[in-house]
Amino acid sequence: MNTLEDKVALITGGTRGIGLACATLFAAQGARVAICGRDEARALAAAEAIGGVCVGYACDVSDPEQTASLVAAVEKRFEAVHILVNNAGMASDGLLIRMKNEQWNEVLRTNLDGVFYLCRAVSRGMVRQRYGRIVTVGSVVGIHGQAGQCNYAAAKAGLIGFTKACARELAPRNITVNLVAPGLVETDMTADMTPAMREEALKRIPLGRSGLPEDVAPLIAFLASDQAAYITGAVIPVDGGLGM
Ligand code: NAP
Repeated sequence: MNTLEDKVALITGGTRGIGLACATLFAAQGARVAICGRDEARALAAAEAIGGVCVGYACDVSDPEQTASLVAAVEKRFEAVHILVNNAGMASDGLLIRMKNEQWNEVLRTNLDGVFYLCRAVSRGMVRQRYGRIVTVGSVVGIHGQAGQCNYAAAKAGLIGFTKACARELAPRNITVNLVAPGLVETDMTADMTPAMREEALKRIPLGRSGLPEDVAPLIAFLASDQAAYITGAVIPVDGGLGM
């Protein structure tokens, strides 16, 4: 089903995990896709592996100049950006009492500031073209909190308010802004969980398993499509029932 035919999508962190699954699905649905990550070689290799029309860029989303250059480069290459998926993210866990300023700042700059820079940059073109779809990858941790992740929780919770404010601001220009909140998903980000932590987490998931990137990507693709024209400002969990 080519529901993203003729669309240009910028997917941050599309080189691994949830972003890679998303980019692969978007390309299969006919979108022209731009992905980015900090590691240029990985971005280029991922773009080639994804196939279709997919271009990889090196960009650190926590840097306002790099994000502005990225959006300018994608707009120049494809003449528009119709869809932005804010997926790039990282964690640097630690208990509050031991959390270093650097850990706090790095997570907030990447997971929250980066989304602001990208949304600001793409929204100019989206307003002009009277069309846009912005989907941000938050987390259930931004809704429920998680011990050892006060920095990550603050950033992901911040994204919820940011999403709703942008949704209100951009709705009159036919731009929707939504947030997807995954639970535990098997990616590099969660690969170093201890067996005890994993077992404890699985006990709390009604569906009895962790998620895969391919469990999250279809919702992002739907929210990015024309079929989701009447959904904005929504926060939608993909968590195996964890939040019930
Ligand atoms: P992942 O496998 O570690 O992939 C992270 C991606 O983000 C990579 O492509 C990485 O590329 C990129 N990235 C990280 N920092 C970046 C930066 N400063 N600038 C540009 N790109 C950057 O993680 P994932 O699990 O797929 O996570 C994707 C999103 O889902 C994140 O926002 C995460 O918070 C969220 N999420 C994940 C889970 C989970 O259980 N896995 C649950 C809830 C939410 P480079 O390393 O090359 O920069």
